[in-house]
Parts: sequence; C-alpha cells; structure tokens
Amino acid sequence: MSPVTQEPFSPPGPHAVARQRALRLAASSKPFVARGANLQRCTNCRLPPTHCICALRPVAPSNAGFCLLLGDIEALKPTNTGWLIADVVPDTWAFGWSRTEVDPALNALLTDPQWQPHVVFPPEYAAPSRVVSAPVPDDNRRPLFVLLDGTWSEARKMFRKSPYLQNLPVMGLHPDHSSQYRLRRSAQDHHFCTAEIGAMCLDLAGDAPAADALDAWFGLFSERYLSARGQGPLRVDSEAQRRVHALGGITRPAQRSADAP
Ligand SMILES: [Zn+2]
Repeated sequence: MSPVTQEPFSPPGPHAVARQRALRLAASSKPFVARGANLQRCTNCRLPPTHCICALRPVAPSNAGFCLLLGDIEALKPTNTGWLIADVVPDTWAFGWSRTEVDPALNALLTDPQWQPHVVFPPEYAAPSRVVSAPVPDDNRRPLFVLLDGTWSEARKMFRKSPYLQNLPVMGLHPDHSSQYRLRRSAQDHHFCTAEIGAMCLDLAGDAPAADALDAWFGLFSERYLSARGQGPLRVDSEAQRRVHALGGITRPAQRSADAP
C-alpha cells in the first residue's frame, strides 16, 4: 500500500466535489446562502483564512475509489464532508444526482472493467441477495464505493430511483463507534456523515492508511469548522492537528484553486 503523502500526488485543478460545486453554482439563478454565508472562506478547504487547513492536507493513494452521488445543493454546503473524501483520495468522482438524467461519465465509470462498484447503504432497504458486509473479493477489479451524499430523504430517493444502481451489491456498515459529526444541527450519534462512512469503507477494503488519513482529516476539519463558528478555541497544537501531522510525509500548501476551470 502506498504511504500517505502530500499534495503532489493529486491531479492539478479542483477536485471532483469542487467541480460539482462550480457547476451547481453556475446552474442556479439566485445565489445560494449557506449558514455563515457572510464569512469569507478559503475556496479549497472552505474554512475562513484564519482557520485554513490546506497546508496540512494529506493525500492517500488507495486501491479503492469513490463515486459520490450528490443531492441537489450538497456540493454547496460548507458542512459537506464528501468534499473531504475528494481531498484525500485521488480516485474520487462526484456527480450531481438527477432522477431523469444520467451523466454518461457516471455510466462509463460504473461499467469500467477496472472497478467493482458497491452501493453503500443500509442493507434493510435492499433485497437480501444483494447485501454484502465487505467488498466482494475480486483479483481483477478495485472496489469502488458509491456513496449517496445528500439528506436522508434524497439518499433514499437516489437508492430507489437510479436504475444503474439496481444490480450492484449493497454494502452495509456495522460501526463499532458513534458518529463524531457535529457540524449540522440534525447530527445524531448513529447518523454517520459521508467522510466517516468513507473511512469505514476504506477500512473494510484493507486501505488502513487511507482510512486513517481521511478520519484524521475529518477530525481536523470538524474542529476548525466549529472553532470558526465560535464553538471552540483555535488551537494549532490540538490532538486533531497532531494526528494529521503524524500521518507521515511532509505536508505542503495546496497548489490548486477551486475556482480554476
Ligand atoms: Zn484552505
């Protein structure tokens, strides 16, 4: 497994979720007003410049990849954590979900012979014959985790109304811990956010360094986000920051711009 490294391994330019954000912004007729919209934010990490964590971003090449299907305004929300998966895992794709239109690139990805897609969703919603509890072993294909990134109601709709997902295995998760996601008011201990789900998938795929990097990055992002919202001090020597530092490799400021085409 490749070690966790820094920025140079990731492709130049904005990542998949940042591109979806730009597309969604371009498609909207009126400006999207997020909570805390009056805050000036870094275009890459979405935190105020005083709390920017771009210089610490870990990149963890992994055998597994991610395909994020995004609910309508998910890419616009500064609390979206699918963004953090795209930060850390180079092989991450993101698509805006629509019931009536399917991006040809999404179909191409799901049928690409190098990938073995799994939909990650509570197994009780799927026929038992589709349910797996870990990636299906396959010597020739890499696991691709399809995450339905939106509100719970959007995710259920995506699961039910996407014909291209109907024949894929459904991977359920059995967490042995509570969710640490505290960025949205609706957050509950048993509702895991997308980044946490991503880290669990990487663990199940045997990509422990990538799982650890994503989990650590999520921890630091959450801490800084809450601090920027006035819910905690800005500490540069926090446990969360030390954990990201300890991932190994030197870290460098990000070179890319989320605003670039
Ligand atoms: Zn930043």
